[in-house]
Parts: sequence; structure tokens; C-alpha cells
Amino acid sequence: MHSFTPPHRTLLGPGPSDISPQVLQALSRPTIGHLDPLFIGMMDEVKELLKYAFQTDNEFTIALSAPGSAGMEACFVNLIQPQEKVIVCRNGVFGERMRENVVRCGAQAVVVDDEWGTEVSLHKVQHVIDANPDAVAIAFVHAETSTGAISDAEAIAKLAQENDMLVIVDAVTSLGGVPLYVDKWGLDAVYSGSQKCLSCTPGLSPLTFSPKAIAKIQSRTTPIQSWFLDQSLVLGYWSGEGKRSYHHTAPVNSLYALHEALLMLKNEGLENAWQRHEQMHQLLKQGLTQLGIEFVVEEGQRLPQLNAIYIPSGVDDGDVRQRLLNDYNLEIGAGLGELSGKAWRIGLMGYGARKENVALCLHALQQVLR
Ligand SMILES: *Cc1c(COP(=O)(O)O)cnc(C)c1O
Repeated sequence: MHSFTPPHRTLLGPGPSDISPQVLQALSRPTIGHLDPLFIGMMDEVKELLKYAFQTDNEFTIALSAPGSAGMEACFVNLIQPQEKVIVCRNGVFGERMRENVVRCGAQAVVVDDEWGTEVSLHKVQHVIDANPDAVAIAFVHAETSTGAISDAEAIAKLAQENDMLVIVDAVTSLGGVPLYVDKWGLDAVYSGSQKCLSCTPGLSPLTFSPKAIAKIQSRTTPIQSWFLDQSLVLGYWSGEGKRSYHHTAPVNSLYALHEALLMLKNEGLENAWQRHEQMHQLLKQGLTQLGIEFVVEEGQRLPQLNAIYIPSGVDDGDVRQRLLNDYNLEIGAGLGELSGKAWRIGLMGYGARKENVALCLHALQQVLR
């Protein structure tokens, strides 16, 4: 056996995305104790940088030491009690995962179903809210990575607020890639992932709870069933004036990497990052159109950072992706769930959203499809 030396791939799938050398370098800096005062100072900066990325003043804004799916689970196990009713919007794989979480909390999920590849329908949401005024929360995916559709988070949140429901949002793929305003839109519990548009190593989940969400946790009458994800225990670790109590060992080096990735986002500016994703999407779209390739999602509901496209007829899905990987060191994503074998997913996320990557992808696709 030898040391593992991976090849240098260009990652244009649904995540993990390409990581900048600057972030990889941060990852390899010396490990220090996770209760070292210098490390605690860095964690405070990570919180500040996350508040900027989320556009929130929420006191409770942290990076969970686990991937995006754990961020999802943390929202449900903390905010939802058994027997409560939660409205879940399902227009792809991750909406279904949210529903499963609700059920596993012993709560009741009322599902709003929309076609894969379309946005969450506001009309249907309104209808389900009217029929279920006793629901305590509404949950939806802002950017459905499985289909490439974006939903109107601001408008869904507004409908929920008019009925005093908590708003739980999956922003795993949206954070850093498209406009997301946690405070302005009144979102109560929002989780993300480190490996999509933040272009950091996988395994961390940015998470923010509004004061209303914290109040809901504090008013619980039943214990949170997960010890690790019980955020009232984690709170003492991520806050407390200079004095932190041990909860679990922080992934020290991964947090260096997240700090660096967030710093890069701050230096670029959120609005500029959003604009860059949109510009790269337009470039890719032009090229794909010339190749005669069609998008799964209608114009106006498309995510710039995740382009779901139909596989041209007569083309072998696995064969093409294999050749892109072997001949061009290029990874694109397969279709997921209902779109398996029917679509590809080209991610232009974070550091990956660059002109040279768009050019490589178009060139390689053209050659392989020929
Ligand atoms: C990737 C993704 C997740 C899951 O994140 P993991 O880090 O893979 O656990 C959840 N929701 C959406 C929308 C995603 O794209």
C-alpha cells in the first residue's frame, strides 16, 4: 500500500465543488487545541463571517461539525416535537429527506408536492396552510440540487409568517451562489453545507437559528432525542465569553478551511459572487444551446449554480460521464431519483464557477458527444 494521491479533477457536479488552493493550504496548517484561546478567537470570526454569508444578525450562527444532512436533522430535532404538524414542500430528493426527518421526530408531515424540475408552488402552499392552520412550521428547499430548480424563499416565508409558522429552509446549495437574506426574508432555521458554493471541504454545516427558533427550543416540553444535535448543549461551546465548555472535539483543520473560504467570499463580496454564478450560468447556457442540449428546468426557475440538462437521445449516460472523467479529468453529476439516467447535472459552484471551467466543460462535452 502507498499514500493515496488523488488526480487533479475539475469538479462540476452537484458537490463537492472545486476547492481553491488557498483553502487547501489553510487545511494543512498545524493543528492546535480546540479550546486554545487562539482557536476560540478563530471560531468567533467564523461566526461573524457566517452571519455575513447568511445576511443575519442571529446570535446563534455556527458551523455544525457534520455535513449538510446533519444541519437538516438539527433543524427538525431541535424545533419539532412529537405530534406537531409540519408542512413540507417536496419538489425533489431533498424535500423528501425533510419529510423523513419530520416523521422520525414523531411529528406529522403534510406534504406539498410539486413536479420535479419546477419551483414550489405558492398557490399550493397557501392552500395547504389554509387547510392546516395548526401546523407549527413550514419546511422547504431553496435550491433543489436534485433538479436545478430555485424556489421563492421570500414569498413562501411570507405566507408562513402570516400564519405564525416557523420557517425552516434548506440553503445547502443556495448559500454563496444566489441571493439569500435570512433576516430580511424572516427565515427561522437555515442550514447549509461547506462543499457547495462555499467551496470548502465537505463535512461542515453552517446553521443559523432566529430568536423565534431559539424561543421554540426553550419552550419544549419534551427532550431533544439526539444528544449530538441538541443545539442547547452546543451553544455553550460556540459562545460564552472566552470560556468554552467541551461538547465534542471540533474538526479543527476543517474549520481553518471554512474560515479561509468564508474570508474569500467576504473579500469578493456576496453580491459579486452571486453575479459571477449568474454570468457563468449564462456562458454555459449559450454553449449548451449551441450543442442542442435542453434544460430540465424552465427559464426563470433555473439555478445558475446547478444546471440540470437532458441527456441527448441515443447517448449512453454512464459512458459519457466515464469518458469525461478519464479523458478530461472532469466530473459532472448524474441524474438523481426521478431524473436518474435522464439528466446530467453540471454544477458551477463557488471556486468552480469560472470561465475556464465552462470552456473545459463545453469542449469536453462536444468532443465526447461527437
Ligand atoms: C448536498 C445537499 C444536501 C446534503 O448535504 P450533505 O453535505 O451531502 O449531507 C442537502 N440539501 C441539498 C439541497 C443539497 O444540495
